[in-house]
Amino acid sequence: MNVHTHNRPSDPAEQYILNCYPGTVPADVELCSVGLHPWYVDESWLQQIDILRSDVQLPNVVAVGECGLDSVKGPAVHLQLAAFEAQIQVAEEFHLPLIIHCVRVFDQLLMLHKKYNPQQLWIVHGFRGKPRLAQQLISRGIRLSFGIHYNPATFELVRQSGIPYYRETDDEMGVNLRDITSPTSSGASL
Ligand SMILES: [Zn+2]
Repeated sequence: MNVHTHNRPSDPAEQYILNCYPGTVPADVELCSVGLHPWYVDESWLQQIDILRSDVQLPNVVAVGECGLDSVKGPAVHLQLAAFEAQIQVAEEFHLPLIIHCVRVFDQLLMLHKKYNPQQLWIVHGFRGKPRLAQQLISRGIRLSFGIHYNPATFELVRQSGIPYYRETDDEMGVNLRDITSPTSSGASL
């Protein structure tokens, strides 16, 4: 299962969750996620959340996201945070897992996980962190998804721990999941 892609894969056998922005969920894709990416949060975010709230009721929407926090790129953190917290609440209300973009703000992510104590699964997508950070997240019940670039030691640790993890192609054009998946690492289904 390709848990996070921005493109329809060319491999017809690939199972995938297509990442969509609010108001753009295609009816002909079996599984989609919808969210406000932290890079693109702007002053209209509240209206976007309203659109998201109706999108998540579509039958093919299976997750909220990608959403999250990025201290390197995107608008001011307070704006990102407001939109992210709203999406955490939408995920809880509609009983959907959350697909998370997090760059260099994992302390804050862990704090939010403690604050909301979510019933829904949180999946950090495109995880490239070190084993120690992976351990911290896993011990809170947060799961990880690995794309093309990842820390091999972290991946081995997660794989050997037996805890479910995910694979993804993210926004890599023309890449199918099978191209980045070793024989023993096909990942879990959502
Ligand atoms: Zn993405």
